[in-house]
Amino acid sequence: MGNSVIKIAEAKKAFGTWVHKALEFEITSIEICGRTLVPASPVKVELDYSFDGDAINAKGCISVSFHENCARCNNEFVMPFYCDFEERFFSSDYKGDEYPHNFTNEDKESFIYSGDTLDLYDFVYTTVVLNLPLYSLCSENCTGANNAKHIGSDELNPDSLGAKLLEALRKQKEEV
Ligand SMILES: [Zn+2]
Repeated sequence: MGNSVIKIAEAKKAFGTWVHKALEFEITSIEICGRTLVPASPVKVELDYSFDGDAINAKGCISVSFHENCARCNNEFVMPFYCDFEERFFSSDYKGDEYPHNFTNEDKESFIYSGDTLDLYDFVYTTVVLNLPLYSLCSENCTGANNAKHIGSDELNPDSLGAKLLEALRKQKEEV
């Protein structure tokens, strides 16, 4: 399964010093707008992080790949995904009036760490979902040729709506 947690005790002590870390862990399938994206690889996260007194600042990149169907030809292919990020993580200990005075509303809704550990799972999952392309192609110059394939009645699943319609039409013709 890998591990999405980083230990931040040293970074908190070494105030302002950047620490480099590489993580690898698995994420669940993503269901979005009728699409189900099943990961084809674990997520890799490379990041540098440091503590500034209020928050853990982290910047780095996320890479993963998904099983996806081409928007043009509908063939399955493995879609690589990559994005950069920059994020501040605040302590879960802050509540209400205890927020530092310079907290913005955005900060209050930010991802959090608790104690000396920061679990990047929710942040990484959300960042991937928010940065997914609306559709993807198996190759830049996919012509979608396979999509034009004629579907004859014999290729239809007998339980499909199309097969039932054809069956009904056939019966109608026989009755005439
Ligand atoms: Zn294609």
